[in-house]
Amino acid sequence: MNAQKGLAEILTTTTTSLSLSLSLHCLQEMVGQAIEAIQHSLACDDLSVLIVDEKQGILKPLSHPAEGDAAFDWDPGLLGWVVEHGQALRVDDVTCDPRCDAPMPGIRSALVVPVCNQNRVIAVICLASRQPEAFEAGDERLLVWVAQQLAITVENARLRHEMERRLEEVSALYQLAEQVGVSLDVQEVLESIVQSLKRAMQCRGCSIALLDAEKAVLEIRASAGIDEKWVQAFELQLGEGIAGKVAQDGMPIYAPDILACESFITFDPSVRSLLTVPLMLQQRIIGTLTIDSDQPDAFSKMDEHFLTIAAAQAAVAIEKARLYASLEQRAQNLAEAYTEIKRADRLKGEIVRNVSHELRMPLTFVKSYVDLLLEEHAGPLSDLQKHYLVIVAEKTNHVTRLVSDIVSFEQVDRTPCRREPVSLTDLAQQCLERYATLAGENGLFLIEAWPDDVPLALGDRDKLVQVFDHLVKNAIKFSPEGGRIVVSIEETETSIQVAISDEGIGIPQDQQTHIFERFYQVDGSARRRFGGAGLGLAIVKRIVDAHEGKIWVESMPGQGSTFYFSIPRYQPPQLA
Ligand code: ADP
Repeated sequence: MNAQKGLAEILTTTTTSLSLSLSLHCLQEMVGQAIEAIQHSLACDDLSVLIVDEKQGILKPLSHPAEGDAAFDWDPGLLGWVVEHGQALRVDDVTCDPRCDAPMPGIRSALVVPVCNQNRVIAVICLASRQPEAFEAGDERLLVWVAQQLAITVENARLRHEMERRLEEVSALYQLAEQVGVSLDVQEVLESIVQSLKRAMQCRGCSIALLDAEKAVLEIRASAGIDEKWVQAFELQLGEGIAGKVAQDGMPIYAPDILACESFITFDPSVRSLLTVPLMLQQRIIGTLTIDSDQPDAFSKMDEHFLTIAAAQAAVAIEKARLYASLEQRAQNLAEAYTEIKRADRLKGEIVRNVSHELRMPLTFVKSYVDLLLEEHAGPLSDLQKHYLVIVAEKTNHVTRLVSDIVSFEQVDRTPCRREPVSLTDLAQQCLERYATLAGENGLFLIEAWPDDVPLALGDRDKLVQVFDHLVKNAIKFSPEGGRIVVSIEETETSIQVAISDEGIGIPQDQQTHIFERFYQVDGSARRRFGGAGLGLAIVKRIVDAHEGKIWVESMPGQGSTFYFSIPRYQPPQLA
């Protein structure tokens, strides 16, 4: 019982120290102390602790009795039995036990106890003696108890180690997110991912291959720890090799030993094991992320789990950088297109000005000569001749108007909009006077409706004259005989608002926003009743926009239309 107490004390101290520091060195030290305690308590000639190496299928000694003592080659049959059955084995006479394959020279009795962790035998504690029947049932119980304490300590160490590993991984993921988050350059992002993953996974090489969707091939776009010549040589079709398969199926592949892996296509001969996970964005595979090692079976299930999380993060970062690059490209394209449009627009303006100038001159001549003919300066005319000449005069007027509308439309944006105090009531009155005759000829009534004290607006007089002219002219054009055209003006808090209403044909609801577009006409057919080029309202809108005002229409087909526009008020300077 005393021996057990002594052992317990040593194991408690070592367990505590082990959970503070988890190095292999510490584990060895702890086992050494445990062995010492056992040796003090139990008489034996050899004591070993052997670790089970499942991968290689061997038992490796972790510690051995104090220097000077002979080391025994442990009987493989005995150890095999304990590892297989997970039970303690006390042999009173090894020379007579059928489980002993190769009895150790000079040894007569043995006590072998397994150390179990998670239902697996991870080590065995072996005691040997030159005496037969050297160990009793009490010794076996004591050793089993020691093995249990060791197992608990090892499990603690394993958990602690696992926790530290997870912590390292989480901080690596955090660092990865931080690093890739700062750059929007695709190549920089890729480089930063492979570098930080290589560090975090402590692997030999790390690479990102991106899928060229058109060619359906994977090419390495960034790598760390891999010779450049292998990077250059790497090119895999979808479904080809390990990365090709991962890119095709979207499932990770772990090749613990590429020498035993048929689908592996060797680029870098130093690779022994490799783990590849897909880079996926919303079910779309954009490439693969691979880590490799020159050792076989270098990675675990946890590594795969970690790499999959890192890949998800990397895929988002890559996509973000790609989107940014494509946005930048688009912005550049747009800027170029805009410059091109401006150039074309300038050119168009020049052409319009030149062509209009060339057209106006001959039109003026035609008009003058037609007028001379109509006034019979060249001799008397028959009624039919007069009729034909009136048609020529009308058509000439129409083309002249069209040319002047086109020029006005072009000029609105090119000539700066002056800002001067202007009376919209004066402009309205002058406009109604100008159109009084035409209205009278068409049996229409022009009505003024504004108070005396309408404040001034802030605008360009010449341009605003055009606005009134176009709107009143349209009201006349689209009104039936006997209709009334009312021009009303009122002030609002910030603007002067004008309304020109008629009782004409009206405009269908679905066309009301389009009529302000250039060349748009509600009835655009060749058989349309009313003349015009569809530019008047476009000119009006441009002018109102240039004043930072508003224009809109309210209309019902068959009942008439009201066109509204507002121009900012003139704010007289405040007297101090
Ligand atoms: P247009 O030279 O054809 O009159 P506008 O730009 O001035 O060109 O007008 C565009 C179209 O808007 C006209 O063709 C017409 O269909 C419609 N429109 C404009 N003013 C009126 C109005 N007062 N009544 C009905 N329709 C109108």
